[in-house]
Amino acid sequence: MKTAAFAFLLSLLVFSSCSNKTPKPLATETQTPKNNTMNTDNKDLTPIVKTNEEWKNLLSPEQYRVLRDKGTEAPFTGKYYLNKDKGVYVCAACGNELFTSDMKFESSCGWPSFDKEIAGGKIKTHIDTSHGMVRTEIICGRCGSHLGHLFDDGPTATGERYCVNSVSLNFKKDSL
Ligand SMILES: [Zn+2]
Repeated sequence: MKTAAFAFLLSLLVFSSCSNKTPKPLATETQTPKNNTMNTDNKDLTPIVKTNEEWKNLLSPEQYRVLRDKGTEAPFTGKYYLNKDKGVYVCAACGNELFTSDMKFESSCGWPSFDKEIAGGKIKTHIDTSHGMVRTEIICGRCGSHLGHLFDDGPTATGERYCVNSVSLNFKKDSL
């Protein structure tokens, strides 16, 4: 009983604190971020935790192999390798916004390559010592899915090269 009463009080409190604020319609937010590409309206970084079974149900076998089993797609085969459209690249597993098309550069390595990431902890790194190499793995900051690797031999001013599997990405094309 006590907990129920407390929960009721709490909901009243929450309700009243909410109703004190003038509700602002989200009309100013557009679906796709424009202009300032370093900021996006997708700020939700609440971790997404799912079991392997749940991921298997959500993802295609190839997506599961790359995103959850840290696989690598064959070079020069990915659907976004040569993509030059304007828009935002998101994590294929959870929709977390990772890169914009402005960050993509033409790379001969065979995978979509970016010279920076959208700011705000959307991507996490960790040292990968598999296959007898020491590399920096990049994973989605939200759902922990494998994206690719980060190298410091980028040809642009940042010197960085985010080498990402197309399978790990979805592309949201800008609507003009
Ligand atoms: Zn993700």
